Amino acid sequence: MTAYLITGARILGGEVADLLIDNGEIVATGTNLQAPDGTTTIDAAGLVALPGLVDLHTHLREPGREDAETVFTGTRAAAKGGFTAVFAMANTDPVADTAGVVEQVWRLGRDAGYADVYPIGAVTVGRKGTQLAELGAMADSAARVRVFSDDGDCVWDAALMRRALEYVKAFDGVIAQHAQEPRLTQGAQMNEGALSGVLGLTGWPSVAEEAIIARDILLNAHVGSKLHVCHLSTKGSVEIVRAAKRRGLEVTAEVTPHHLLLTEDLAASYNPVYKVNPPLRTKADVEAVREGLADGTIDIVATDHAPHPVEDKDCEWSAAAFGMTGLETALSVVQHAMVDTKLLTWAEVADRMSYRPAAIGQAADHGQPLVAGAPANVVLYDPRVERTVVPEESVSLSRNTPFDGMTLPGKVVATFLRGTPTVLDGELTR
Ligand SMILES: [Zn+2]
Repeated sequence: MTAYLITGARILGGEVADLLIDNGEIVATGTNLQAPDGTTTIDAAGLVALPGLVDLHTHLREPGREDAETVFTGTRAAAKGGFTAVFAMANTDPVADTAGVVEQVWRLGRDAGYADVYPIGAVTVGRKGTQLAELGAMADSAARVRVFSDDGDCVWDAALMRRALEYVKAFDGVIAQHAQEPRLTQGAQMNEGALSGVLGLTGWPSVAEEAIIARDILLNAHVGSKLHVCHLSTKGSVEIVRAAKRRGLEVTAEVTPHHLLLTEDLAASYNPVYKVNPPLRTKADVEAVREGLADGTIDIVATDHAPHPVEDKDCEWSAAAFGMTGLETALSVVQHAMVDTKLLTWAEVADRMSYRPAAIGQAADHGQPLVAGAPANVVLYDPRVERTVVPEESVSLSRNTPFDGMTLPGKVVATFLRGTPTVLDGELTR
């Protein structure tokens, strides 16, 4: 294994130091480090060094929709975005609701070698919302599943949600909820408001998200388990989570990069690349989720990377699939929305995109400070450059990025997974 000496990086955007990586670990940090023979030196002057990013919410589409993404292509996109670990959502075909399927996804990730893949198990059989899946068997499997979600659909039955929360306590699991009251969102196509009326598209009201979050926080408090709220998107949701945390109730929450930057106005183009679930909301909602992420009410950024092939997106709005890709642009969007606006420091970005998602998902090798003895999961990022997003340059199998043509700051220069570079000079190493 090649050793790497990274010189002059700004550790978490702060002090300038060298990092010596060998045998999969950070073996030393400091200045003027002496490197053993055969070490490759990387001049990182001006670059920010962060712990490898962890995405708690990725759709890898395999098994079943290998035309949209595979574990191989999705983890390549993750590496290019600075991620060293991704949690793969369970809405595959077959659904990841058994030990067999989660072990298959886990093995595919291990064999690809671009990022550690932590499969998420479905909460209910077939994600149908009627019967609990084999949560214990998935937890005991080689994949050691700790996060369970029916994402794409809400576990709307309160009694079933309660049972799921109770069940995962046995192995310290967490239920990650896609908060969407189904009766309030039947046929929903975009955020409900004046604009949905003008455009003639059925609205997805904020209250459909907020009602489930409030209910689940109370259910979770009642059983004393772990609840994680997926892709929170409204001002009201931020206020509910903030009030719960003030009361000392256990809940964690995530926001996507696109909800930190984009608004419902984009729907006026009728371009389905902007169709996503939960929908893009209003300017006031964007301001509220930014504030919530800054003050720690929202724990983490998670991409909800949702690749779709052209035929599922290149059609009229109402027929198009929900979802956007996001792994390769996440850090740039967070820089633009949160760092360049002085809402977050780089150390706080490391907290929201590495330490905390790793802690919520119990990814032990990830989310560690950049100190001697830690696994060498490291991303080197250049915040000084600007780039225009070109979908064709993506290494994902799908092209449905809402940032097409936008100029965003920053670029991932290198990603190390346990000491092995998956990205160098901005390109995949293999
Ligand atoms: Zn979802």
